[in-house]
Amino acid sequence: MSYAYQRLPDPGAGLRLHLNENTAGCSERVLEAMRTVTRADAAFYPDYTRVHEAVAAYFGVATDWLALTNGLDEGIHAACFAWLQRGEGGERREAVIVEPAFDMYAACADAAGARLRHVMPRPEFAFPLEETLDAITSDTRLVFLTNPNNPTGLPVPRRALEAVLGRLPAEALVFLDEAYADFADEHMLDDLGSHPRLLVGRTFAKAHGLAAVRAGAVMAAPPVIDRLRRVLPPYGVNVFAMAGLLAAVEDHDYLDWYRGQVRESRRLVHAFCERQAIHAWPSQANFVLMRVGERSREVVAAMARRGVFVRDRSSEPGCAGCLRMSAGVVEHTRRGLAALEEALCDVR
Ligand SMILES: *Cc1c(COP(=O)(O)O)cnc(C)c1O
Repeated sequence: MSYAYQRLPDPGAGLRLHLNENTAGCSERVLEAMRTVTRADAAFYPDYTRVHEAVAAYFGVATDWLALTNGLDEGIHAACFAWLQRGEGGERREAVIVEPAFDMYAACADAAGARLRHVMPRPEFAFPLEETLDAITSDTRLVFLTNPNNPTGLPVPRRALEAVLGRLPAEALVFLDEAYADFADEHMLDDLGSHPRLLVGRTFAKAHGLAAVRAGAVMAAPPVIDRLRRVLPPYGVNVFAMAGLLAAVEDHDYLDWYRGQVRESRRLVHAFCERQAIHAWPSQANFVLMRVGERSREVVAAMARRGVFVRDRSSEPGCAGCLRMSAGVVEHTRRGLAALEEALCDVR
């Protein structure tokens, strides 16, 4: 089965290229599976055995190496509460966050009572390995890395991950957020077996288009997963997500189609930026970060007036003058770039 893009009923509010969502909507097969949920299914607490096995097989891990979560956000939240709460004597744990980073790490680590150590970016976002290693102390319990990173789209070099793992104090973990691994040349899930201190997070929100359904997974060695389970609610994944996931892990056609769209969209965005002499970072995700200049806010506002939403990232560390735009469905990327071109004319 091949996936032609089907026009979504117009959201009215405009074209959403600001949150890295899959603007094609989820796979039709996933929706069909959700429609098969019965009255009894809805009434009874779910049994996760089948979906747990299916998702573990999909990622190629044993079942005791995985926990399903209510979106990857819940995995981040649970890891913070399991690893970062104050010690018996009230001593504070530390979380290391390599900037620019996804907001949830700081929000959850802070809510859990941790001290945050932010590692600032290097020019061009070259991975700041020395600075990250220097930020690790005997109080460190979590180091957040994102591969490929949001908002830069750049991968974490494997040797950097290994160096960080090698520097951790006994109880600490690397939380490797791979929300965008579906679009990357390389991922690090296969490294789990050799790294007992590595926790990998995945989500069905982005590539599979299930952001509103809330479905993610965290994977690590069984002792890590056991500890996470002690803070995860027992029924965090609802029955529709469960039905949808069973279909999503089978639907390779949909995923292949969207990945193809992302590759072509990235090519279009990079070609546009080259023509316009806009600096953009070579993305391995379904979005591109670009430096449009001092008036990035106005550019974003001018695009919004044309009904296209992109994200101003200019206040993030290292991102002065930058906006981030989704690079997913090709037709939407073309519309986004047309709006960007006009917005740049308005503002210049
Ligand atoms: C979108 C995103 C998530 C959250 O995924 P959900 O499954 O929607 O909770 C986590 N990490 C990063 C880096 C993201 O961009």
